Amino acid sequence: MADKIKMLTPLVEMDGDEMTRVIWQMIKDILLTPYIELNTEYYDLGLVRRNETNDQITIDSANATKKYGVAVKCATITPNAQRMTEYNLKEMWKSPNGTIRAILDGTVFRAPIIVKGITPLLPGWKKPITIARHAYGDIYKNTEMKVKGGSKAELVVTDENGNETRELIHNFTKGDGIIQGVHNTDASIGSFARACFNFALDIKQDLWFATKDTISKKYDHNFKDIFNDIFEAEYKSKFEEAGIEYFYTLIDDAVARVVRSEGGYIWACKNYDGDVMSDMVATAFGSLGMMTSVLVSPDGVYEYEAAHGTVTRHYYKHLKGEETSTNSVATIFAWTGALKKRGELDNTPDLVEFADKLEKATVQTIEDGVMTGDLYILSNLENKKKVNTEDFLKEIKVRLDNLM
Ligand code: NAP
Ligand code: MG
Repeated sequence: MADKIKMLTPLVEMDGDEMTRVIWQMIKDILLTPYIELNTEYYDLGLVRRNETNDQITIDSANATKKYGVAVKCATITPNAQRMTEYNLKEMWKSPNGTIRAILDGTVFRAPIIVKGITPLLPGWKKPITIARHAYGDIYKNTEMKVKGGSKAELVVTDENGNETRELIHNFTKGDGIIQGVHNTDASIGSFARACFNFALDIKQDLWFATKDTISKKYDHNFKDIFNDIFEAEYKSKFEEAGIEYFYTLIDDAVARVVRSEGGYIWACKNYDGDVMSDMVATAFGSLGMMTSVLVSPDGVYEYEAAHGTVTRHYYKHLKGEETSTNSVATIFAWTGALKKRGELDNTPDLVEFADKLEKATVQTIEDGVMTGDLYILSNLENKKKVNTEDFLKEIKVRLDNLM
């Protein structure tokens, strides 16, 4: 066998939790380290280590990503009340993805991996739909309160000279209630808009954007206006040259059009819309296990991951010694995406070529009829076979070796 492929610059490796942590190690052992001299700066973002370091490890990993330019991340637990007891946590640590996004101020692009034999639940969808999720602010950086009956809630803004502007939120005259404060910044919305316009030009696809500007006449309308101003000033002629369109509509109308469409465009979403719609789109395309995700910062830093979570239900089976059949495709594509980007930036074509071959071997395995349980129930191939988590990776290795 030929020498192992070398990596000039480290890749930031962010390990994670539960079933995806198990898969993470298997991917490295079976599909990566036999071929590459893996050069990573390792950060353990597993919940145990985050708790030990008071979540400093998450911040360190994001800063390392800024330094080296490329990261690959495993899915991680976002703690809730039940996790507090399960892991005996000091605090309910914030979502690592939220923390990393806030530090990198990036935009998340999610696209499904399409394979022959798996028809989307919406059979009209022929091409991928890439969802661009604004990764800053709104409810992910909110302040919330429970309000006692008899209270009055107001929005108060104090300007730099100490002058206050007040708006009534609600007079709670008829009992208890809740309030929420959210924000965004023109700078972040602007870099979101530019990231989307640039990505659309890169992959030569139309860009759709939608908000609820008819109801939210200041907050959502501001998103619409910033997108429009930047498009008119900086991108209109480039889009014309590339033969692509920028299309704005109301979020309700966008959802209806997406369902009727055949795919093949980028759908820019506000933070919450992107969170929810990307799960809907991923599920309709087949399985969450086939959805890739990349966070791109305005200064060109990339963080690759799978769109799904830590697949807790499978992990509990795994802990009991039961066999699992968990789909590792999105996690494999997180690695290949990161290795390709590393190779492009370092100008090491053999690394790019390896990543391409690994992607090809992965798709080929499924198209040969060998797949995990989530795809098995969706596939219309006649010779299909369901395999367990580890055997799926071994089947990919067989095909990868043929390509090497
Ligand atoms: P999840 O881990 O995505 O899993 C939800 C269900 O989707 C699974 O039970 C499984 O369905 C199916 N599924 C997802 N990925 C799959 C795969 N690769 N192969 C096969 N089936 C797959 O979401 P969750 O259960 O809501 O969340 C679990 C944990 O992940 C939570 O602690 C959450 O905080 C965390 N999370 C992390 C991220 C991230 O790090 N980016 C994102 C989302 C959630 P069946 O059980 O029916 O087989
Ligand atoms: Mg989500």
